Amino acid sequence: MVRELLEASEIISEIPRNGIIAIKPNLVLSKPSSSGATSDPEITDAIIEWLQENGRREIEIIESSWLGDCTRKALRECGYDEISKKRNVGIFDLKLDRTIKVKSGPHYFEVCQRPLDAAYLINVPVLKAHCQTKMTCALKNLKGCIPDSEKRRFHSLGLHEPIARLNTLLKSRLTIVDAIIGDLRFEEGGTPIRMNKIILGRDPVLVDAYSAQLLGFEPSEIGYIPIAESLNVGSANLVNARITEFGNDRNYFEIPVNRSIGSEYLNLIVQDHACSVCYANLLFALERLRETGFLKKIKQKIFIGQAFNGKSVNGFGIGKCVCGAKQFVDGCPPNARAIVSAITKCEL
Ligand code: SF4
Repeated sequence: MVRELLEASEIISEIPRNGIIAIKPNLVLSKPSSSGATSDPEITDAIIEWLQENGRREIEIIESSWLGDCTRKALRECGYDEISKKRNVGIFDLKLDRTIKVKSGPHYFEVCQRPLDAAYLINVPVLKAHCQTKMTCALKNLKGCIPDSEKRRFHSLGLHEPIARLNTLLKSRLTIVDAIIGDLRFEEGGTPIRMNKIILGRDPVLVDAYSAQLLGFEPSEIGYIPIAESLNVGSANLVNARITEFGNDRNYFEIPVNRSIGSEYLNLIVQDHACSVCYANLLFALERLRETGFLKKIKQKIFIGQAFNGKSVNGFGIGKCVCGAKQFVDGCPPNARAIVSAITKCEL
């Protein structure tokens, strides 16, 4: 999937032949990517393999885990040390890096030197919900490029503006989002949701705006997205965006029932041969409805899956497969934002 996306994006001519290409995954702590917390190492491995095949040699992996966690441990346990050895690329714990004070607007920020010095920065975030900023994806992932003291200060500044401003100082020119497995609720994982998606974009604001909808949010609900747009980091205008989707061959994947998400969802859903991305979108939508208290109002069952194709169904349908339901949200798959909007408007 990574190779297919990189080839389709025709981005290779934009990647310099000289100077360091820094790859920044999300290793917030040392948990495997299956937990929903961290970037799948296979994505970084595939990026490096492709870069090397295209004659790019100066590549390094950079990261700093969150406060209180050891980056070296995360790099080792999440499989990045192995990639570094296999592909012969550098790997750096930014907690040990020198920092520089740089200015954005009226504010000064302490930023690690390596990402500032990189000729080209590739951002590899995980698509997850976040208990404070609602979502963490491309823009927020660069918080791993500042020292721990500054991470603490970002919280005291309310997170949104400093995150947006950090992206005026560190420009990720290519973002490849790991939406294979993300998390329903937390940055640190624990309620993993399989989406089986990878998203590539040049504009991190646009990538975040698109990703917000996959989690059931309007882009404007994520405070740092409109701020970053106002600071000219990128555009959140999805209407004018050129979005290419491919590879969605409606493959059905067996979805393990994730008991950690709670029976309040599972009792509502009737699932039979649903594509994993469609099912993930429904779970994210139900989480948004739980947060607003709307979930309790839903009395009828919600049907999802290819097994309902062409059948009449007594309940609410998700996607074109369940257009035989009295009320349904169209799309294949419908995104979480569309599901939230359709459910809140219909009679349940
Ligand atoms: S609507 Fe599309 S994505 Fe959803 S289950 Fe049917 S085929 Fe899969």
